Amino acid sequence: MNYMDKIIEKAVEFDIPVVAVADAKRLNIGAPDGFRPGDYLPGARSVIVLARQLPKSIFVSENDPHYMFYTRAFADNYRRMNDTACSIATMLEHEGFPSLAVPAYNPLKFHRGEPHGVISFKHAAAEAGIGKLGKSTIFIHPEYGNILRLGGLITTAELPTGRPKEYKKICPPSCDLCEKACPVGALKNGEINITKCMTNCIGHTLLPPYPIQLSLKWMAGKSSWISSFMEYFTTSMFENYGIRCMKCLQVCPHFPC
Ligand code: SF4
Ligand code: SF4
Repeated sequence: MNYMDKIIEKAVEFDIPVVAVADAKRLNIGAPDGFRPGDYLPGARSVIVLARQLPKSIFVSENDPHYMFYTRAFADNYRRMNDTACSIATMLEHEGFPSLAVPAYNPLKFHRGEPHGVISFKHAAAEAGIGKLGKSTIFIHPEYGNILRLGGLITTAELPTGRPKEYKKICPPSCDLCEKACPVGALKNGEINITKCMTNCIGHTLLPPYPIQLSLKWMAGKSSWISSFMEYFTTSMFENYGIRCMKCLQVCPHFPC
């Protein structure tokens, strides 16, 4: 059995239907300093992306308190990604390839004052050719739409990698439904203002109002000490939170529900 077969077998064990591999060297070129696969694992050759669709029924209820059904379902998906990534990393290490399971979602790292995952699995998934980033900045898969959650690992094993594909039918130039639907104007020309989106979207007792968040963003962008403090703060306090908005998700023609 080759390594890819073993990786897919592990993913199936955890009910993860989508497995793809991106070339770590190509991601090293595109990602900012501190967010490259090679920044975390010397000799990184491949990034294995795992993806799983959220259950469609969580979007059906008219009475989901603060979208908690949705929030809990994606937290469950992240746990599953983490367990699968650890299991695959352990298997590859036994085969002689140092491999690092990257926690899905949290911890977050601050870049220019805003929080990001330590590596971007949505960019890795697009690089691996299994879908495309929409103008909402959400990853869109041709079959599962825009409700996938992603995770994965970095490995020194050289695996067969995909390449980006055009996917002309996904997010055509004529569509701007998500931009128009965003109540705070956080989306523009395929980019997201994370601070604006977070203020409207995240429900958490410790999340300050927008003007204070803007000041924190400015300070974190200037001071590595404040960035580091914010990283500890988000990692320890933001494991659980509520969601108050998913308008850009729901208006998208690729929302499969
Ligand atoms: S709503 Fe339209 S523009 Fe926005 S991500 Fe979906 S397809 Fe792309
Ligand atoms: S989640 Fe809401 S606030 Fe954030 S970008 Fe989408 S529509 Fe805008």
